[in-house]
Amino acid sequence: MSKDIEIRIPFNKPSLVGKEMAYIEQAIVRGHLSGDGHFSKQCHQFLEQELGVSKALLTTSCTHALEMSALLLEMEPGDEVILPSFTFVSSVNAFVLRGTRPVFVDIRPDTLNLDETRLEERITNKTRAIVVVHYAGVGCEMDAILEIAARYDIPVIEDNAHSLFAKYKGSYLGTFGTFATQSFHETKNFTCGEGGALLINDPQYITRAEYIREKGTNRSRFFRGQVDKYTWIDVGSSYLPSELLAAFLLAQFEEREFIQCRRRQIWENYHTHLEKISSDHKIQLPHIPSHCEQSYHMYYMLLPDIKVRQELIDYLKGKGILAIFHYLPLHTSKMGRKFGGKTGDFPVTESVSDQLLRLPFYNDMTKSEQDQVIQSIFEFFET
Ligand SMILES: *Cc1c(COP(=O)(O)O)cnc(C)c1O
Repeated sequence: MSKDIEIRIPFNKPSLVGKEMAYIEQAIVRGHLSGDGHFSKQCHQFLEQELGVSKALLTTSCTHALEMSALLLEMEPGDEVILPSFTFVSSVNAFVLRGTRPVFVDIRPDTLNLDETRLEERITNKTRAIVVVHYAGVGCEMDAILEIAARYDIPVIEDNAHSLFAKYKGSYLGTFGTFATQSFHETKNFTCGEGGALLINDPQYITRAEYIREKGTNRSRFFRGQVDKYTWIDVGSSYLPSELLAAFLLAQFEEREFIQCRRRQIWENYHTHLEKISSDHKIQLPHIPSHCEQSYHMYYMLLPDIKVRQELIDYLKGKGILAIFHYLPLHTSKMGRKFGGKTGDFPVTESVSDQLLRLPFYNDMTKSEQDQVIQSIFEFFET
């Protein structure tokens, strides 16, 4: 029945925005391809200076930066981590790997971020961390979250994969938590294919973070001349990306203005057009609170129900356009059920997961491509 239709407008497409090729060549010429060479250091500096974090360390992925966070907080079997059910599996897996029990919270229906009014009731004497996810690059209600976390003395980790350079009340996301984790996966605003970073806001964790990232050794201190040999001193793994990736990433960072400006245009163009039909067809569009500056990571629509969403996905596919849904609730997944999750626990998460559709969004999306997407959505609703 299903005939293969050629996708002309993909959901995502990575692009070269500047000196990626030249920098990769330079990395090769420099003769240092493993981690923490010239380009990695530049990336660290860039993140530290632009965001104002105490320390930034490139990692092989956001998943690995989250795993480092769990190791740094010495999470143990029996400990609990609180996080939204509406997020990517890595936000939870990094902790479950340490034997930590996930405790989910529902999301707000407007920003789709962790519902801060439901946070405190999930805290127990076993809670060791709170992970927040700034969905679609829009900040969680950090004042309320940090106030609760401080009262119970629980560290907050920001899964900042969507939200590099977004702000909450004038400050960059990624600067609020004890740690924040970035992703430079191909689908994110800034990419090197696969990559990430751990941002550290509490300096007491810096030294151990370096050990953990370097296989549990003090190799970083050795290279800085702070110790005369390096050895095994902690648990750890291999979380450094190659210089080839750092070279690619630095070129993307240098085009920060261009990338963010491009994505803003695409986002605003979707929004202006879709606002014209949203209320007539019971479509909810993204809500950006006035105290948040978003990162223009994605454009999504919340459709009336799963049936309309599937029909629209199929309709767009018929036109060669790939639009896709997003997170399935973690609490009702196979693993989530093992931790006691069941349907009905988090109604907002469950309905948002059924209704949400993400539209094609990439830096070099042309005006004509975007017009075709918007036109097709109009046709779907108005014929
Ligand atoms: C993409 C993403 C991740 C995982 O990023 P990787 O770099 O692929 O490990 C984690 N959390 C969120 C919210 C993401 O969007």
